[in-house]
Amino acid sequence: MTETIESLLKEQKKYYPPEEFVRNANMKDPQIYEKAEEDLEGFWEELAYNIDWFKKWDTVLDWQPPHAKWFSGAKLNASYNCLDRHISKHGDKTALIWEGEMENSATYTYRELLDATARFAAALKEMGIKKGDVVTIYLPMIPEAVISMLACSRIGAPHSVVFAGFSADALAQRMNDSNSHYLITCDGYFHKGKLIEQKEKADIGLENCNCVEKVIVTNHAANAIAMKEDRDIWWDELIHNVDSECEPEHMDAEDILFLMYTSGTTGKPKGVVHTTGGYMVGTNVTSKWIFDLKDDDIYWCTADVGWITGHSYLVYGPLSNGATIVMHEGAPDYPDKGRFWDIVEKYGVTIFYTAPTAIRTFMKWGDDIPAKYDLSSLRLLGSVGEPINPKAWLWYYEVIGNSHCPIVDTWWQTETGMIMISPLPGLTTMKPGTATRPFPGIKASVLDDDGNEVPEGNGGSLAIERPWPSMIRTINGDEQRFLDTYWSKWGTDRYLAGDGARRDKDGYFWVLGRLDDVIKVSGHRLGTMEIESSLVSHKAVAEAAVDGKTDEIKGEVVVAYVILEADAKASDELKQELKEHVVEEIGPIARPKQIIFTDDLPKTRSGKIMRRVLKAITNDTEVGDITTLQNPAVVEELKRKVNELR
Ligand code: ATP
Ligand code: MG
Repeated sequence: MTETIESLLKEQKKYYPPEEFVRNANMKDPQIYEKAEEDLEGFWEELAYNIDWFKKWDTVLDWQPPHAKWFSGAKLNASYNCLDRHISKHGDKTALIWEGEMENSATYTYRELLDATARFAAALKEMGIKKGDVVTIYLPMIPEAVISMLACSRIGAPHSVVFAGFSADALAQRMNDSNSHYLITCDGYFHKGKLIEQKEKADIGLENCNCVEKVIVTNHAANAIAMKEDRDIWWDELIHNVDSECEPEHMDAEDILFLMYTSGTTGKPKGVVHTTGGYMVGTNVTSKWIFDLKDDDIYWCTADVGWITGHSYLVYGPLSNGATIVMHEGAPDYPDKGRFWDIVEKYGVTIFYTAPTAIRTFMKWGDDIPAKYDLSSLRLLGSVGEPINPKAWLWYYEVIGNSHCPIVDTWWQTETGMIMISPLPGLTTMKPGTATRPFPGIKASVLDDDGNEVPEGNGGSLAIERPWPSMIRTINGDEQRFLDTYWSKWGTDRYLAGDGARRDKDGYFWVLGRLDDVIKVSGHRLGTMEIESSLVSHKAVAEAAVDGKTDEIKGEVVVAYVILEADAKASDELKQELKEHVVEEIGPIARPKQIIFTDDLPKTRSGKIMRRVLKAITNDTEVGDITTLQNPAVVEELKRKVNELR
């Protein structure tokens, strides 16, 4: 017998994109889904013409499950597609607007960004970096991060960006894992006004790293640092005496573009390998259709370059479309809680893409903050990283989007490289809380353990049925883990996403939470997302995380960690009220046994709830690797609270 996940949350109302948006949308052909189905390879082949190739492909797809080769035989260069090809028409167009932590700023036109990239690429080459050498980038959100990525791709050196906020250990782990001989970092940077000594942190990490040869340091915070002779060199000195030109390397479509480590929500981070051709085709078209990028848009994706979102939808996707991107260094509450809306107003941002964790935080801070700013330039909003609870969706829609901006709730992963499930903003009727339909050409399904499709409305395991251009090629140095993690459940032609989901009568996909986190209460299997959303829908709750605790009688019971709204007060009565609220919304089986009020939750640096750490706290087991945790102190704090209840 196979088990499914029960789904009990009530349906929400529908939202339609405004007529004007529909009229002008980049993708407004409702037949596009059928067209893609009729001829899948033809569909992707046609889209490949949006990319410039030095040599055309011999075959569109070579699929030896689970190994895909896309556009075999073709040659291209990612930086050429993001820069050079825009120069003749858009050389003077702004490519990058950078807004610094200290309210300093800079802009680069496409020509300027190309010049900076080509010069740095020439310097990297001169230094001896060759095609295939992995270069680690450990930089905060400064233009040099983008320039470094593009310079690496220009010379065919795969980059591995490590989030600047990660520890020295996390850096060393990733450099060793990818056998990277080169590091690009900076002297320091400011975070909420406080100096972070980045170079010092890097030096500590490098002590445990036997492969490093050269370290390039860009001057950002002007703090005093130690430079190690023969190893460390300043960026400015390096580019001083080199050519300002650097021909883009002609890369095979299947040459590696970059390595990117996953967030580590469910286990040790995986070094996901992405290649060049398919990745560029996939991120280019999803940027164009899902974000509806037009020539005059000011597009702001708030994700850090240290995440896949920063790769696909801050750098490669938008720049390959010739868009103007905003890049922000710093925090949403520094110097004050209006920082994001201040930037939207200042630059007239039209498209804004952020994460549910940020949206819930803004919601908690109150409507009066965004109300102080002119947000009328916004025309499209996006969300990524976690399921967005309907309450947060509605707040985003009404308060930030003034009820006229479609919201694209985009489901995807480091491994998928591009957005897989999302509304097309000019075509799709939205329902708060669902990422809606798979992108044209993508076939997703909800399966049981035997690989049978579960009936509509039931929860199961989210699968992707066919190869797609930007898919993961392997896990760096661990092909076996690649096979085991994604391709062992139902065989090698169906990708296991690791998320629970259900499909509704409109064919929309609702992500129910991580498969590893399904809670089993008295024979019922419940996803975390619906219980969390029902808690969050209560007016006193800002954020919630639920977990299962082993119980002799019921198997597991539901434990809920709750962050209250600023104006709500913790009390036993409120606990009772919240339990009843869940019963009303979902049913008695979902009733939380315990509610724990807290000010914080264990989160990854990208703002997701760190499920495996929560599980360890709830069940009093080893917490394991917490190098990717944003706020390690919360672990002890929550453990204490849980123990008090025992
Ligand atoms: P690890 O794989 O190391 O555990 P991770 O899965 O958190 O880390 P990412 O690749 O950054 O690393 O995150 C992808 C996951 O984020 C998805 O599998 C899904 O659980 C969640 N996710 C992303 N976007 C959405 C969305 N729009 N709706 C629901 N869940 C989402
Ligand atoms: Mg994952």
